Parts: sequence; structure tokens; C-alpha cells
Amino acid sequence: MKTLTSKILSAVLTGALALGIAGCAQPAASNDNGLKTVEAGKLTMATNAFFPPYEYYEGEDIVGIDAEIAQAVADKLGLELVIEDTEFDSIIVGVQSGKYDIGCAGMTITEERLQSVNFTQPYATGIQSVIVPEDSEITDVDTLLAGDYIVGVQTGTTGDIYMTDDIGEARVDRYQKGNDAIVALTSGKVDAVVIDNEPAKAFVAANEGLKILDTAYAEEEYAMCLNKDNEELLNAINQALDELKKDGTIDAIVAKYIPAEG
Ligand code: GLN
Repeated sequence: MKTLTSKILSAVLTGALALGIAGCAQPAASNDNGLKTVEAGKLTMATNAFFPPYEYYEGEDIVGIDAEIAQAVADKLGLELVIEDTEFDSIIVGVQSGKYDIGCAGMTITEERLQSVNFTQPYATGIQSVIVPEDSEITDVDTLLAGDYIVGVQTGTTGDIYMTDDIGEARVDRYQKGNDAIVALTSGKVDAVVIDNEPAKAFVAANEGLKILDTAYAEEEYAMCLNKDNEELLNAINQALDELKKDGTIDAIVAKYIPAEG
């Protein structure tokens, strides 16, 4: 016979289980095209809009390479693109919990992230660059790693992950926004900043007295991340990206924001 305590306990457990399931699964709505998205008729994209030229504010609007590529993908799928700005390290969690359909944020494909989310095919390449003051004694990546320098990074990015692996927590200072790490660099709180090359160029152009080291720290590929339970949407986006690569749309978007050098 069930006692009152065991009844209460099982009710609590059932509730917790239901909550647990609701927390993990994607509460998806169906669309005319058969695809499931968080909200019917919409493709909800999470980004961190302080990562020029991939995403940044122009007035109230979030613009940039990722915003335009996602818009082109949404057009192909017949969905309205909705961009939500959040902290970079909340994107994967939000995609997993069914808050966003895609994360599109200059996000590097890594083995670790692949445990939590699916990635589309890559649509761009990135490099982790090192920014130092113009008169810095740090001349290359080896000097940076070997010394006792403090490195500023953006929380949860590959710059953070790789640097922490290479030089340990004690020498890594984390900031929510790339620009906050740059402010720490210009005010002498950190000796270098490790960040993706395109935002690095934008930050150096906007701040006097900084330079990017010639030697890169790491090379990587950017892709959109999706909930592991939504393979149909993954396939549809991959198909759209294929078409957008073939017809030159992606190249044109990248060229608009990153003028060819030389
Ligand atoms: N490419 C880096 C990463 O995926 C940084 C991305 C970002 O800051 N938006 O971790």
C-alpha cells in the first residue's frame, strides 16, 4: 500500500520528470513546408551582436555577415527571420532547450560543442588572432604562451577554451563582450587579447595604439548550430547553404563586409 509520503514523493518525481522533459525537448511548431521551428512561420536565431563584421548594431538593427546569410537561408525556407541578441555563452544552451532554432554567431565547430548541438556545413573560416599594444614585447604566439602574460578573452569562445587549455585559468581574464576585453587591454589590465581575426581588425581600427600579431593562434570554421532533435531543419538549412554557395550569394555577402585585401 502506498503511504502518503510515497504518494507525495512520486507526485514530486513525476512533476520533476515532466519539467525535465519539457526542459530538454524542442517545443516546436510545424510549418507549411513540414519543418519544425520554435515559433510557426519564423526562424529564430540567437547571436551575440558585438562581433563585427559578423553581427553588430546599426541603430536598432542587427546587421552583418551572419544576419544576411541567415536572412538568405530563411528566405529559401519561406520563414521570417527573427534575431535575438544574447550572451555568446547562452546560445548553445538556448538552442538545446528549444528557445532558438539556430545559433549563428561566428560560431566555431568544435568536437566539444558537437556533443551538445548539431552544426550545419561551414559557411566561413575564422582565425584566432592575438592583439597587443603597439609597443608590446610580445612579438609572436610562442612569446605570449611562454611568458607570464595575462590574456583577455570573450567568455566561452574558442579563444577562451584554447587559451585556458594552453596557459591555465590563472592567466586568462574573461569578458562577456569582445570589446570589454579590448578596454582591459587599452587600460593595461591584460597584456594581450585573443579573439577572431575579423572582429580583431575592427577593434584595432577603432582603438589607437593596438596591433594584431602576424602569427595566428588557431584556424577554425564557422557554422550555424541547431538542436540535435531537429535533423529536418538541419538538412533544409544545409541544402539552402549549398544553393547560396553555388549561386555566389555567400561570397557576395562576405565581400560586402570584408573587402578583399591587397
Ligand atoms: N569563433 C569563436 C567561437 O566560436 C567566437 C565567436 C564569437 O565570439 N561570437 O567561440
